Amino acid sequence: MGWVRLAGVRTAWTTIEDGDFFCPGCGGDRNYERRVGHRRLTVLGLPLLTRGEVAPVVVCSSCDRHHGPEALDQPTTTRLASMLRDAVHTVALAVLSAGGARSRTARLAAVGSMRAAGFTACDEEQLLTLLVALSADRAASGADLADLADEPELRRVLEPLSVHLAPAGREALLLQGARIALADGPYEAEELAALSALGRALRIPVADVDRLLAAAPERS
Ligand SMILES: [Zn+2]
Repeated sequence: MGWVRLAGVRTAWTTIEDGDFFCPGCGGDRNYERRVGHRRLTVLGLPLLTRGEVAPVVVCSSCDRHHGPEALDQPTTTRLASMLRDAVHTVALAVLSAGGARSRTARLAAVGSMRAAGFTACDEEQLLTLLVALSADRAASGADLADLADEPELRRVLEPLSVHLAPAGREALLLQGARIALADGPYEAEELAALSALGRALRIPVADVDRLLAAAPERS
């Protein structure tokens, strides 16, 4: 029965897409190829019969490991860093729009947060210009600057990021907001409301939000 050894099933892969992903195999931002495969019965190396499709795979170009399509759900570290930077921006503007913008020390604390997050060119003047522009833009559509601290608005911006953050990462964002609010003295009612909305948008349990806000240091 020598022919049995000369026959086999081979998978022919076709690349249908490529891009960047975070490889869970070698742990970093890598290139990937998404491939679909067809199995063929081969005899003496010649493909004869199609034996159906195999599940698509995501192949890392660095380690060659095959992953399921869900490997593409995880953002790359570059994308995650950029989402985190935008989140700090959102948090700072939310707290400032909830009353903190009136105070220079709060504005400077926000500038400090934004610079630390990677907006290295951020300064008080730029922040004020942005707040004035946002305020005018909101007024034109009949809305208010304080809407920036509304929970649905915060949720829209922060949710895509917070699903990928560990609790400590989400708490750190809330604390950034708390420090800006505390820069000019104890929390005002609007600031507390904004920070509570922020905590809910970041899916931090209410008891933890209260504990974190109570323990936040007045000066960073
Ligand atoms: Zn890899």
